Amino acid sequence: MQKKRLMIIGAGGVGNVAVRKAARMEDLYDCIMLASRTKAKCDAIAKEAGPVPILTEAIDADDVSALVALIESFKPDLLLNVALPYQDLPIMEACLQTGVHYIDTANYEPKDKAHFEYSYQWAYHEKFEKAGLTALLGSGFDPGVTNVFTAYAVKHYFDELHYLDIVDCNAGDHGKSFATNFNPEINIREITQHGRYYENGSWKTTEPLEIHQKVDYPRIGAKESYLLFHEELESLVKHFPTVKRARFWMTFSQQYITYLKVLEDIGMTSIEPITYQGIQIQPLQFLKAVLPEPSSLGPNYQGQTSIGCQMRGIKDGKERSVYIFNNCSHQMAYQDTKAQAVSYTTGVPAALGASLVARGIWQKSGVWNMEQFDPDPFLAELGPLGLPWEVVVDGKLAFEK
Ligand code: NDP
Repeated sequence: MQKKRLMIIGAGGVGNVAVRKAARMEDLYDCIMLASRTKAKCDAIAKEAGPVPILTEAIDADDVSALVALIESFKPDLLLNVALPYQDLPIMEACLQTGVHYIDTANYEPKDKAHFEYSYQWAYHEKFEKAGLTALLGSGFDPGVTNVFTAYAVKHYFDELHYLDIVDCNAGDHGKSFATNFNPEINIREITQHGRYYENGSWKTTEPLEIHQKVDYPRIGAKESYLLFHEELESLVKHFPTVKRARFWMTFSQQYITYLKVLEDIGMTSIEPITYQGIQIQPLQFLKAVLPEPSSLGPNYQGQTSIGCQMRGIKDGKERSVYIFNNCSHQMAYQDTKAQAVSYTTGVPAALGASLVARGIWQKSGVWNMEQFDPDPFLAELGPLGLPWEVVVDGKLAFEK
C-alpha cells in the first residue's frame, strides 16, 4: 500500500496523543502535518514525536480559505480534527473543497449557544457521498469507543439491545483544587447543561446534575455518578432502534461540584459576553484562560479512568447483560505519551479511527458515526495501541431495567 499523508488540526491535550501515536505508524504514513492556532505548541509536540516526519504550521481553522490553502500546499489524504467542536463545520467545508477524508472526536457546537447535536454535521452526508469522501464522526472514547463497544455487543452478544447505560469514571487525582480534564470551556458547557436521556421513544430532560447514583467501577469501587446528556446517545438510539432506554453517567467528586457551583453562581461559567475595561469578553473563556491547561495535568496524575457500556437485551429468547469497558491508568498514559488518561483515551481512538480510514478498512462515502462501521477491526487494534478492553457477560450491573 502506498503510504499516506495525514494532517492533524489542534495541538492540545488530545492532539498531543494523536500525533505521537500516528507518528509511530511508519508503515502507514510518510508525513504528518500538525497545524493549530499556536505554532509553538505544534513544535513542542513535533520535537518529541516520530519516527514519521512532522511538519508544523499555524492555522486559524475557522478561516476556510486559509485552511484550503494549507491543505492544498500539504496535499494530505486525510485530516484529523482535534481542535474544538466550533471548528467542525469549517474544517468539513475545507475537506470537501480539497477532496480529503475527515475524522473528528466531538460534534459541532455553535460558539454562541451551549447546545450540541449531530444535525449540523449529518446535513453534510450527501455532499461527502457525492465527493466520494468519508467523514468519520466522534472517534474519541465517548463518543467513539463507547459507540464501537455498543456495535460490538449488538453484533456478537444480542439479537436485540434494550437498555444502554454508558458509565464514565475518572478516579484519578491531579493534585489541583479545580481543573478540567479536557478543554475547560467545552467541558463546563457540557456539565452545566440540562441532563437528557432517551426512554421509550422520547427524550426526557432533567435539571443539571439532578439525577445521580453510585456505580461500582471495576478495580475502582463505588463512585457517585451523574446523569448527563452526551452526544453518542443521539446517534446510538438512531442506529439501534430496538433500544428502549439510553443514558450517560459521569463521576464527579463533591469538591469538583462545589467549585463548579460557586463559579456558576457568580457568573463565571456564562457564555453571555460582558464588557470589561472597554472590551467584550466571555466569562467562560476568561475562566478557561486562568484554569490549568488539561495537557499540563499529566506528570502528577495518579489513579485510573474506567469507561464502558452496561447493556441489557435479548439473545436466543433469553435476557442477557453485557458490560464492556476499558480501565486506563494516568501514569501509563503519561509514560506512553506525556499525557493524562483523559487526553490519552481520546487521542488513541482518534489515531486508530484515522488509520482505519487511511487504510480503506473504514472507508465509505458519506458522513458516518462510529457504530455504522464493523466494530471488529477497530477493537482488534485498540488493545495493542494502549487501551485493552474487557467483556463481562451476565455480571451484576449498576442499573435495573
Ligand atoms: P485543548 O483545548 O487542549 O486543545 C484544543 C486545540 O485546538 C488547542 O491547541 C487550540 O489552540 C486549538 N484550536 C482552538 N481553536 C482553533 C482554531 N480556530 N484553529 C486552529 N486551532 C484551534 O482541547 P482537548 O485537546 O482537550 O480537546 C480536543 C477536542 O477533543 C475537543 O473537541 C474536545 O471536545 C474533544 N474531546 C473528545 C473526547 C471524546 O471522548 N470523544 C474527550 C475529550 C475531548 P490553542 O492552543 O492556541 O488554544
